[in-house]
Amino acid sequence: MIRCEDVLREISDLLDEEITVEMRVQIETHLCACRHCKVLVDTTRKTLTLVSSHSFLELPQGVSERLLESLVEAGREAVDRHHEQADDELLAFRGHPRAPLVKREVET
Ligand SMILES: [Zn+2]
Repeated sequence: MIRCEDVLREISDLLDEEITVEMRVQIETHLCACRHCKVLVDTTRKTLTLVSSHSFLELPQGVSERLLESLVEAGREAVDRHHEQADDELLAFRGHPRAPLVKREVET
């Protein structure tokens, strides 16, 4: 079973259709189980489709690559936040002092 990090690493190959059938199946399987990665892949695919369908813009060479890189970077940060959030929820559940302060402020 591949992880979110693996999906992020393979996303450009996936969207460029330069990927093995085995990896594609693994990623599709992961996307069925992980809504977070599915949203990321869908968003990235839509953005690239939008950019490439507007060919009159004549994007300078390398722009689409940089766009993809920035999207993947944003996705990586989102996954990191997602994991941190999960950690915080776990700590809150255990009554750990590092539990989110926001929740306590709401209560008082
Ligand atoms: Zn994932």
